[in-house]
Amino acid sequence: GSAVVAIDGPGGAGKGTISRLIAERLDWHLLDSGALYRLTALAAERRGIDMTDAAALETIARELDVVFVSEGEHTCIMLEGEDVSSDIRNEHVGGLASQVAALQVVREALLARQRDFATSPGLVADGRDMGTVVFPEAPLKIFLTASAEERARRRFDQLRQAGQHASLSSLLKEIEARDARDTQRAVAPLRPAEDAITIDTTELSIPDVVARIEALLSL
Ligand code: C5P
Repeated sequence: GSAVVAIDGPGGAGKGTISRLIAERLDWHLLDSGALYRLTALAAERRGIDMTDAAALETIARELDVVFVSEGEHTCIMLEGEDVSSDIRNEHVGGLASQVAALQVVREALLARQRDFATSPGLVADGRDMGTVVFPEAPLKIFLTASAEERARRRFDQLRQAGQHASLSSLLKEIEARDARDTQRAVAPLRPAEDAITIDTTELSIPDVVARIEALLSL
């Protein structure tokens, strides 16, 4: 078997960055499960499929032609041979992803694909249900959180660095709406696994969080 570190939590808590850094340190594989939901939504939108058409979305999720190519710090995400790395990152696709993620058939269609990432020597799995559904046997489960205000500030800074403009109050509203959808949905709602260790990153730097997880790994 191979080892899995499950890293779950709400959007903007730093899961993506932390997961990548931990995977680099350990030289393990990385699963960005959110990207699979974003890719399903993008592929569906491009085909003109309605985000409530469960049967069509299930087929798209099952047949998704995606390749993750890691290029140092950056992972290039190819959908049907086209680089969509930046196309899947916007709020519009994020919102569609959280709609398709509420469909049980889509989650089931993506399950085997996610488990296939767990090859040796190990996997860092980033998502919402890594510890609760996809890798319930993972020996280390982390639940990363931060206050909604802090997550909105981080998103604001990220956008500004990318040369985009957004208002802090509208970002906060979006984050709260996405939290509500992800925690209140009927299937695989966002919650910490019973054996997860919660790390509140509101007051912590990225190296602080990495150090805490590394300490837990070497216990
Ligand atoms: O993490 P990211 O923002 O890329 O995820 C996009 C959306 O996909 C989330 O808001 C959530 O609704 C959904 N998702 C999920 N389960 C996962 C990862 C993401 O439901 N494991």
